[in-house]
Amino acid sequence: MNKIMDEILSKNPVFYENRECPEDPGNFLENINIGIREIQDAEERMKRFAPLISKIFPETGDGIIESPFMKAPDLQKILYPNMEGNLFIKLDSHLEVAGSIKARGGIYEVMKVTEELLVENNFLVVGDDYTKIGTPQIRQFLSGYSMSVASTGNLGLSIGIMSARLGYSARVHMSRDAKQWKKDRLLKNGVAVIEHKGDFTCAAAMARKEAKNDNKIHFVDDERSINLFMGYAVSALRIKDNLKANGIVPTPKKPLILYLPCGVGGAPGGITFGFKSIFGRSVKCYFAEPVASPSMLLSVLTGKYGELNVNEYGLDNRTELDGLAVASPSDFVSHMMGMLCNGFYTVTDDDMFRLLYLLNESEGVRIEPSAAAGIPGPAITENLQTDAFHIIWTTGGLFVPGEIYDKMYSRGKSVYENSRN
Ligand SMILES: *Cc1c(COP(=O)(O)O)cnc(C)c1O
Repeated sequence: MNKIMDEILSKNPVFYENRECPEDPGNFLENINIGIREIQDAEERMKRFAPLISKIFPETGDGIIESPFMKAPDLQKILYPNMEGNLFIKLDSHLEVAGSIKARGGIYEVMKVTEELLVENNFLVVGDDYTKIGTPQIRQFLSGYSMSVASTGNLGLSIGIMSARLGYSARVHMSRDAKQWKKDRLLKNGVAVIEHKGDFTCAAAMARKEAKNDNKIHFVDDERSINLFMGYAVSALRIKDNLKANGIVPTPKKPLILYLPCGVGGAPGGITFGFKSIFGRSVKCYFAEPVASPSMLLSVLTGKYGELNVNEYGLDNRTELDGLAVASPSDFVSHMMGMLCNGFYTVTDDDMFRLLYLLNESEGVRIEPSAAAGIPGPAITENLQTDAFHIIWTTGGLFVPGEIYDKMYSRGKSVYENSRN
């Protein structure tokens, strides 16, 4: 423990295997108040909204926002020539509407809140044709309400774009990390962007306070929201089609192993909760964080959970991995992951640019730097000799403007070339 603590405080990449995590999650899952029923309920709600989503976001086709799943033989050849099993990528980087994994949780929370609000005010009955939510009368009603969120960028895109499209007044509190192009994209979509000088934890505290004093503002609370969490968990139901199409049948002997980038914890936590609920002993999950903000890792290691802030450990939470720049994790997610997550590791910014470059070179996939954090997982977690279906979860990138991507690609290329000299 002292040794790994020293490494973490020196900002060296580490791997921590979580021995508290039981091989069989069944016992733990039976004793919490959410489960498969709640995940199915979320999936049903997404289906009710699908006709509306299809209409207001035609790029989603049938209105079910889901990502591609691919084999990654060329990346496997470059990075892991001796790997047991096969390498796959789950491309949440390419989710429509939000351009990141936040399309799962964020859009789901807007659906949930909207359904409740409209039913309560007699505009809607559960099971109606939800395309009527796009009519002028309902838009007019929703325009009297605000959706608010704090974000390092991507959650803001998700909540902002979705809620503005439904007619809400949308307010996004951006932390200092947020990239200019993400703010520009929101402004173009009619969203109010409030810029904060502090990090995500600070921006969230201010936005939470603002909403507390105004009952017409719904604050999407990334540190506490069970709705976001359930929206992410639905991925575990949806993956079944991907597995079937690829002839994948996970077993405890040949499990799925997920490598998930982690910020506040909601996205990787919800996915882990969903997968462990459905696949039990046939899945393992590992989280990746930047060396400058290993908040989930430290929260579990120290037992401080949501009370933990990396600043108190002399870490500065300064990273180019903006989606993961979180100094303090979700309290309920960190408690749960203490029991469900198999291990945690940290990565450097430079290495993520290198992998962003290599992913493009090998598989032609474009991602943002945060989204690369799962890629080194199989080696770091010492799973190369484990016969498994290794699934790297890429989490953002679809909307990165071309000239910005080119710069990141060049940085990655030079890191790669220098590493070979
Ligand atoms: C938000 C985000 C994550 C992590 O999700 P959390 O819920 O914050 O843990 C990972 N990658 C990207 C690109 C993100 O935007």
